[in-house]
Amino acid sequence: MLELVKIEVQRVKCYSPLGIFIGWANEYEFNDLRARIAESGAEGYSIEFNGERIPITPVGKIDNWPQGLFDFNEIAISRMFKVQIAKWKKENAEKEIAIQQAKNKIGIKTDECDCSEYPAIHQGPGKPLICSNCNQEL
Ligand SMILES: [Zn+2]
Repeated sequence: MLELVKIEVQRVKCYSPLGIFIGWANEYEFNDLRARIAESGAEGYSIEFNGERIPITPVGKIDNWPQGLFDFNEIAISRMFKVQIAKWKKENAEKEIAIQQAKNKIGIKTDECDCSEYPAIHQGPGKPLICSNCNQEL
């Protein structure tokens, strides 16, 4: 069984346009601040992250998003997507093979096909044409 990993909620220091510390913000509070900055067009707000002052633009953007800043969720979700996509690709490849095997069973065997009797399939630029009956390269 997997054990639950405790993850500390990240917080950053937030500063007003005059450089006055206005408090610590977690990801929700930070995004709320960014939204309110965007809504009001306020200039000069910033946060402190890894000892660096990072400005929030009047539309609520961070121009050069630093690595490690509120990116835990994104990284965790992409780890999960990576597994899901690999699984989906594997299942699709297995389906393709099964379809091909079924076609070979009911259709004309590759070595018996007169490919000139069937339309050719374009697989895309730089790829060979294949016979629509036996899937052999032409
Ligand atoms: Zn053929």
